[in-house]
Amino acid sequence: MKLRYFLLTLFLFLSMTPLLLFQAWPHSEVLEGELDEVHERHLLLAQNLAAALERYYRDLVTTFDLLLDTPEVWTETKSMVRVLDNLSFRHVCIADWNTGKVTLTLASASAPCPDTIPEEELDRLKALAIPGEVTFGPVVQTADGENVLHMVRPLEDGLAVGAVRTTYFRELGEAISFGVRGHAAIVDHTGRALSHPLSDWVETRRDMSKISAVQRMLARQTGVESFYSPALKGDMIAGFTFVHPVGWGVMIPQPIAELQQKADVARRSGVIFLAIGVASALALALLVSLRVVRPIEQISRASSKIAGGEFGLPDLQGSSRLLPVEFNELSQRFREMVLRLRENLSTINALAYQDLVTGLGNRTYLHQQLDNALSAGHAGALMLIDLDGFKAVNDMHGHDVGDKVLEVVGKRLCEVLGVARLADIELEETRQISPDAFRSSLVTRLGGDEFAVWIPSEHIHRAEELAALIVGRVKEPIVLDDAQIRIGVSVGFACYPEHAQNRSDLMKASDLAMYDAKKAGKDRFVAYSPALRTAVQTERKLTAEILSGLEKGEFLPFFQPQFKLPDKTVAGVEALVRWNHPERGLLSPQDFLETARELSLLAEIDAMMLEQSTGLLKSLTEQGFDVPALAVNLSEERLTSPGFPDALQMVQDLPFELRFELAETMALDNLDAGVAAVLDQIRAAGCLLDLDDFGVANASVLGLMNIEPAHIKIDRNLVSGIEQGNTFERLVRSIVDMGHSLNIPVVAEGADRLEQVERLAQIRCDYAQGYALAKPMHIDDLAVFLKSHAQEERTA
Ligand code: C2E
Ligand code: CA
Ligand code: CA
Repeated sequence: MKLRYFLLTLFLFLSMTPLLLFQAWPHSEVLEGELDEVHERHLLLAQNLAAALERYYRDLVTTFDLLLDTPEVWTETKSMVRVLDNLSFRHVCIADWNTGKVTLTLASASAPCPDTIPEEELDRLKALAIPGEVTFGPVVQTADGENVLHMVRPLEDGLAVGAVRTTYFRELGEAISFGVRGHAAIVDHTGRALSHPLSDWVETRRDMSKISAVQRMLARQTGVESFYSPALKGDMIAGFTFVHPVGWGVMIPQPIAELQQKADVARRSGVIFLAIGVASALALALLVSLRVVRPIEQISRASSKIAGGEFGLPDLQGSSRLLPVEFNELSQRFREMVLRLRENLSTINALAYQDLVTGLGNRTYLHQQLDNALSAGHAGALMLIDLDGFKAVNDMHGHDVGDKVLEVVGKRLCEVLGVARLADIELEETRQISPDAFRSSLVTRLGGDEFAVWIPSEHIHRAEELAALIVGRVKEPIVLDDAQIRIGVSVGFACYPEHAQNRSDLMKASDLAMYDAKKAGKDRFVAYSPALRTAVQTERKLTAEILSGLEKGEFLPFFQPQFKLPDKTVAGVEALVRWNHPERGLLSPQDFLETARELSLLAEIDAMMLEQSTGLLKSLTEQGFDVPALAVNLSEERLTSPGFPDALQMVQDLPFELRFELAETMALDNLDAGVAAVLDQIRAAGCLLDLDDFGVANASVLGLMNIEPAHIKIDRNLVSGIEQGNTFERLVRSIVDMGHSLNIPVVAEGADRLEQVERLAQIRCDYAQGYALAKPMHIDDLAVFLKSHAQEERTA
């Protein structure tokens, strides 16, 4: 859950609590309170009303008594009539006890006394009478339809009767009205309505004695009571009391529903207030949570960015006075932390991406930049630069010098490409190793003596020119303190996206080109081409096949005879390696020997050749064939291999002369002590040393003297070029003469036409070897050849 939602929910819950509590607060309690108040209010009203009525009662009784006690003073006086009128008297009369005949009218305020009181009524009135007291009867209706209360007092000779209209009760009751239907009800001592909001009830003197509150009033009680009102068809609550001593009842009822409404209104306004409270609390909470949460959220966002490796400066809001100090501090510290982190990171980056020897970017840096460039779809060329002869510099001058050479080379590369070394770029810029760095050229060192250069698309058309410049600049002599060092360089490059679709293929393609350059000789550059790849693939296939061919014994010696000139007798044979390839048939050395040399398998081949050719030729001589000499080719690899001296021991006591042909390309001028020792061992073993391929490389007379060969073999490229009187012929002749002057017999190989053989004989070359006389052949064919050749000689 997000912090801001969490806070909001929390605040919401907190501010809702009072509302919920209020909601849970029992509703009836409000009513209960309201009812308590009614107790007091309604009862007080009832008591006030009762007091007023008691006073009224006393006025009535006093006035009645006064009139009766001093009739002579008051009878029919104007003032008494007015008093009686005010008190709502209809009249006051005296009637005969027995007949009911009215004997005296003391006062008639609003209606005259009747002539005679009807018997029934008289009995009723007489029943009320108590000697010496004024008593009241229940409300009754007069003949003319007016409701009255009768008050009686027995006299010696009659009955005094007063009739009082109920007007005062009604007015008094009507004066009290509250709420919507709150009112006063007054009943006589029998429970009949004297005053009531339903005028109908008053007119018909409704008997209300069934109502519980009325019953309690009539029982002269005071209190509060709730009851069902048939008049208002609802539950009522009433304060009630009685009028002392007459027993009239006074009641102040109000519908409970009305109170409930009041309570509801009170409650509703409570709810509204609470709701407003909640809303404003929420608004406040929202504001607070937004303000408080924002810095935390920002920090959290920034942290997850950093976790994702994005080290941009976080966009944190500045300090605010509205925020707690801790928050501002947190933001501030976080900013500082990120800054420091970035600083550390850039230092680490600088170290991680930099080659400490040259100050150039390293392999990781190159990979990263290549990935950037390639993923952005930027074309470019990747150039691999490999130094030639750097190992020798290290060996000869030590690693410190070696490091300096590398540094100089790095600087020269940067010069040619017009870029700065990574180490020279301002730290500020490397802080964020620019994702756009590949837009310009880039010089890196991959390790050892290997450098790589990225050439962006805009310079790609100059790739060859730049490669040539690099070759030229790197091979310039490097002057260090007291030493002058020359170093070779091989450059290969491939282009993205033409030659490769990803970084690793691009590296491989450039590598292929670079190796091709290296193979072609020092100080060259080669641009990648698809043919290069197929060549390499074939070579790779060949490698695997050579290895398995050696294991399976697919290599065998062929033998090419050598002839003595001018009589052309067989002087010996040269063993030449052949590969009986399972698919491609018989293969010549040119098809596999170079690869075998690269695989360091040449020594192994030579060893096998020596063993097989001597063995085969031995068995041939055992069959009676006469082969005076066997020549085997001896590579430098075999010559220097540790197993060679032992192998020499194995070829002792052969029935023919064994000669080793050394290629003139070997460094013979300046013989290594080890090599010289092996050459001595060869001679000591009774074998001869021949100098092969003479005339094409740079063997000097000094070299010749150094190894003192038994024969000189003139290279076949010279011999096969011989025409009568041409340069080749002159050259061959001078070699022959030189050999003779040194007392060394000369062999000419590669004589493929008979005229050439004749020529060689004429210039007194000692031996000839060539297709014109015999091709290299299988041992079985050699036997056939030797047999027929011997016959030819015999017949000749
Ligand atoms: P190489 O030692 O100078 O051998 C002579 C090469 O000249 C042989 O080629 C032979 O077939 C060829 N040749 C002889 N007469 C003629 C001719 O009239 N015309 C022409 N065009 N060529 C002629 P091959 O057998 O192909 O051997 C090539 C080279 O391979 C050899 O040159 C030698 O340097 C090397 N090689 C052959 N066998 C071995 C071996 O067992 N060990 C080592 N280390 N090198 C070997
Ligand atoms: Ca040879
Ligand atoms: Ca040769």
